[in-house]
Amino acid sequence: MSGTPLHCSAYIDGEFRTGGERRERRNPATGEVVATFDVAGRETVDRAVAAAKRAFADWGRTSGFTRGAMFRRLAEITLGRVDELATCVTLEQGKPLDEARGEVRKFAEAMRFYGEEAERIHGETVPNESTDYLSVVVREPVGPVAAITPWNYPVELIGWKLGGALGAGCTMVIKPSEHTPGAAHLIAGYIGEAGFPPGVFNVVHGAGETGALLAAHPDIAKLGFTGSNRTGQSLFRTVEGVTQLTMELGGSCPMIVSRHADLDLAATGAVRRAFRNAGQICIAINRIYVEDAVLGEFVDRMAELTAALTVTDGFATPDADVGPVTMEEIRARTAAHVADAVERGARLVAGAGEHPAGGLFRNPAIVVGAPHDSLIMTEETFGPAVGIAGVESLDEAVAHANAVAGGLAAYLYTDHLGETMRLGRDLDFGNVAVNSVDAGIINAPYGGRRESGFGSEHGREGLEGYLQYKHLRIRHTH
Ligand code: ADP
Repeated sequence: MSGTPLHCSAYIDGEFRTGGERRERRNPATGEVVATFDVAGRETVDRAVAAAKRAFADWGRTSGFTRGAMFRRLAEITLGRVDELATCVTLEQGKPLDEARGEVRKFAEAMRFYGEEAERIHGETVPNESTDYLSVVVREPVGPVAAITPWNYPVELIGWKLGGALGAGCTMVIKPSEHTPGAAHLIAGYIGEAGFPPGVFNVVHGAGETGALLAAHPDIAKLGFTGSNRTGQSLFRTVEGVTQLTMELGGSCPMIVSRHADLDLAATGAVRRAFRNAGQICIAINRIYVEDAVLGEFVDRMAELTAALTVTDGFATPDADVGPVTMEEIRARTAAHVADAVERGARLVAGAGEHPAGGLFRNPAIVVGAPHDSLIMTEETFGPAVGIAGVESLDEAVAHANAVAGGLAAYLYTDHLGETMRLGRDLDFGNVAVNSVDAGIINAPYGGRRESGFGSEHGREGLEGYLQYKHLRIRHTH
């Protein structure tokens, strides 16, 4: 049904270049080979970085209006190919086709946004003690940059880095996840069609070794990384020379439900943000703290909504709610987190039994009453399982929320203004969403704190991270 596997080769200087060891990617729903890719070794990585460095000489001096026009063309081209790109995402990553289509549209939206932001990059003048001088502060791109991206949002996460970097006037080399090579390959083709000059956007494929070669390259001015905490930590030791870093490392995200919450809204939000993309979201809800007064009612509603989710192959059934998890490691970890909770006395209120299709399909699971130090309440499961605990007060909930490593996103459901303001202040997270589980929008900064990393993507801030200041001090009267 999925046809010939997509072959993904390096994209350097505006051309696809095959060569190197060839690896496969299999569809997590069916096991079929759906893509192959050429692993980039040192020579290919060096060539890609050299191309980005050469291209920077001109691209770094183009006007934001020129870049903006190319971004708008890229957005249009992508919107004309939604199904091509979404099909590739579903076949490699497993999320249902309609959800993948949504991801592609968000990529196009990010391209439109950064096309406009590119036109708004401006500096300022600063007064001097003497009127014979004028200080002009301009912002210039940092240089050729690298991006290492994960597999859970293979299109969108390329978009955030590509939008910020190329919008600012940087050139880039990107290494997508080895589990989802196709999106970067297709996007490279669209970039060429949109008229971005050769060398401005380059792609190298491979796993961690290729990522490490790229990160260690001395000509890379900045590295934008999204992925696991473990890899993020290792990259601090890998980079060589003076390389700026942005790190988006995920984390265990809490949700707090007050006795003043609209429980239908809260349960619907919880199901969406715990199980969408099979829970494989950096900002997925991992643990829910509910005031004791409404715990029973909230659990019942959430269990009912979860039991009604359609879990199936999202290519055959585009409007399925949940597809397979992307790889065996996720399936095993999710099962281990649920088993640990149950062994330690938690109640399984959804997700009992095996999914009939087996393999990487899993019924979304809810466990209630797991100890606060259990795996599900402390670690990022990154799969379709969530823990719920009752709390006596919102202060207790905030203490638990902040006590676990990671500070990416927190969710609060309450209709009480005082609680909104107090918890909005006290939750130590980069994103706090109230009465909604859409924590990120394209025009506001998105990023973590503490163990979840640093630096922002999205918004004007996502572009500013790729700019540096220059102070031009002019003595104009002498
Ligand atoms: P996740 O499983 O959340 O995607 P990983 O950190 O394993 O997180 O992978 C994120 C990205 O980092 C992928 O593109 C992967 O190939 C890359 N990567 C993994 N290990 C390394 C490493 N040691 N150095 C550089 N990049 C790496």
